[in-house]
Amino acid sequence: MIDLHSHTTESDGTVSPADLVESALRARLEALGITDHDTLAGYDQAQPLAEARGLELICGIELSTKAAFDGRPGRASVHLLGYFPDSGPAPEFRSWLLELQESRRDRNVRLAMRLRELGIEIQLEEVSALGHNLTGRPHFARHLLAKGYVKTIQEAFDRYLDESAPGYVERMEPGFAEAAGRIRQAGGISSLAHPVRLAGRDPVLEPRLIRILVEMGLAGIEVYHSDHSPEDAARYLGYAREYGLVVTGGSDFHGEVKPETFLGTGRRGNLRVPRGVLDELRAALCHVRR
Ligand code: AMP
Ligand code: FE
Ligand code: FE
Ligand code: ZN
Repeated sequence: MIDLHSHTTESDGTVSPADLVESALRARLEALGITDHDTLAGYDQAQPLAEARGLELICGIELSTKAAFDGRPGRASVHLLGYFPDSGPAPEFRSWLLELQESRRDRNVRLAMRLRELGIEIQLEEVSALGHNLTGRPHFARHLLAKGYVKTIQEAFDRYLDESAPGYVERMEPGFAEAAGRIRQAGGISSLAHPVRLAGRDPVLEPRLIRILVEMGLAGIEVYHSDHSPEDAARYLGYAREYGLVVTGGSDFHGEVKPETFLGTGRRGNLRVPRGVLDELRAALCHVRR
């Protein structure tokens, strides 16, 4: 059993890179992929520890991208995973991530100002203390909860932070095609994260959007995920076969912020990613034209 999708305290998870390595060993994982949002800091910290403890660790990333779909208003937010199983990404990719992190910091300043306009007492420093290098909206949500402005994380998004909510402010997010291209150029394989969120299982829209993403350079698809039913996974496997996409899978473990999701086994044991998935990911890398 392996798990190719997890988050540490370097993005919006609550488990440190070192503790995540120990959790993976306890869960008897054969390999662990760390896929923090917009940062490799969690992987970089975990790497020497994993090596010392004999855990196979895979370098990954999760990027929030924007995709324009013909005939649909605005640009949809699409999460894209990237995997660099052998030597990590090329240096240009790391510099590009630093640019994305800078645009987040700028957004966070504006988001805190916007929330103050809405009557919330909030200092960015208090939120940043929760988020290390990569403070995101999930940290703002935790802060709103801790201060008693909302009763749940979901309420924080619904009332303040969601794209449709009054507190929302834009940040620079790469286009889907650009992000997929950068992952490929950096020597990696891109994979559509939790595809169940793409079109909410709509039987007409989903295949259409997946085809468009493939045309924009998508290389893989996350067939196995804690949010997927067996029917979902079977459908995503179908797209993988149809378009020759690489199959990936993982729990999307975040620690205490998603307490129902476990490393390796997902939700109530609904996940089991076979080792062969990683072998095929590696095999696919050999065929990628750079
Ligand atoms: P950021 O990258 O800082 O803009 O934050 C995006 C993250 O916030 C996503 O990866 C989700 O984990 C979370 N998120 C975004 N919208 C919602 C929502 N409506 N409900 C719950 N979580 C959300
Ligand atoms: Fe997250
Ligand atoms: Fe995601
Ligand atoms: Zn994730």
